[in-house]
Amino acid sequence: MKCTKCGRDAVYHARYEGKFYCHKHFNEMVESKVKQTVRKYGLIKRGDRIAVGVSGGKDSVVLLHILHKLSQKFPFEIIAITIDEGIAGYRPESVEIAKKNAKMLGVEHRIYSFKEYIGFTLDETVNIMGSFEKGERVGACSYCGVWRRWLLNYAAQDVNADKLAVGHNLDDEVQMFLMNIMRGDVARLGRTGPYYEVIHEGLVPRIKPLREVPEKEIVLYAVLNNIEVDFSECPYAVEAFRAEIRDWINEMEEKHPGTKYQILRSYDKMFPLLAKAYAHRDLNRCKICGQPTTGEICKACSFKLQVQEKAKEKGITFRIE
Ligand code: SF4
Ligand code: ZN
Repeated sequence: MKCTKCGRDAVYHARYEGKFYCHKHFNEMVESKVKQTVRKYGLIKRGDRIAVGVSGGKDSVVLLHILHKLSQKFPFEIIAITIDEGIAGYRPESVEIAKKNAKMLGVEHRIYSFKEYIGFTLDETVNIMGSFEKGERVGACSYCGVWRRWLLNYAAQDVNADKLAVGHNLDDEVQMFLMNIMRGDVARLGRTGPYYEVIHEGLVPRIKPLREVPEKEIVLYAVLNNIEVDFSECPYAVEAFRAEIRDWINEMEEKHPGTKYQILRSYDKMFPLLAKAYAHRDLNRCKICGQPTTGEICKACSFKLQVQEKAKEKGITFRIE
């Protein structure tokens, strides 16, 4: 097949729009989707300092490369942030890859670890709390998700960033949307969406410049442009429900190309109403760490207290600050 634009050999067929792309025009198409997302919602302003959360995985590394490219033409600054959760056999490699990519692009890079800022690695937490898979307490992902969100916000403030860019792609957004609908958790959909709002001075606004780029295109972008990314999977990943939704959406996309974009458009239309109804605007400061929360103590601190308590019970000692 030939590229719809220039007639050269095509490397990609975008079934949802019936077009073929050569390497050059594929790159342009992906980059212009990111540019349009940023422009449509004013996600990045002139002179902004953008912290990019880079795990080393395909989405965040591609995000770093594309934002770096955009920052050459449009005046904003980027700084890469990596959260090291402390997951043996998985994180060390991906942290290395994040480091290499930032170095190659000449982007400043900082690493923030659970061990240093929470007090224990995720592996230690699982050891202390018992694992969900064994039917004990909460699963690793619950701690990980809450602490990562907390630490990313801390890190973004620490580097004086105006915004925090994360690598959510089209598939992630659509999965998240449907999962929350199926769980009846519509309120959650009002908290993050196509654009950001300043909800609290202690909360660095999150932006998702890749939310209109399908996962498939991110993988291909990395491969075609020889970008080193980590494709390995976290050993704690057991999100069976998400996997079912993902397979179902992919099946629908196969039968009805464009389904993912249609679902995203529906979400975008509903978002202003959801945000109005559900975004918390009356947040307090956590009594322990000072980060914004709806209650008195934030979820990250209450998880930390639980783990400290259990460690004490079990007589396990760690360096806890
Ligand atoms: Fe953390 Fe779970 Fe993701 Fe692993 S799969 S990095 S434990 S949230
Ligand atoms: Zn707190």
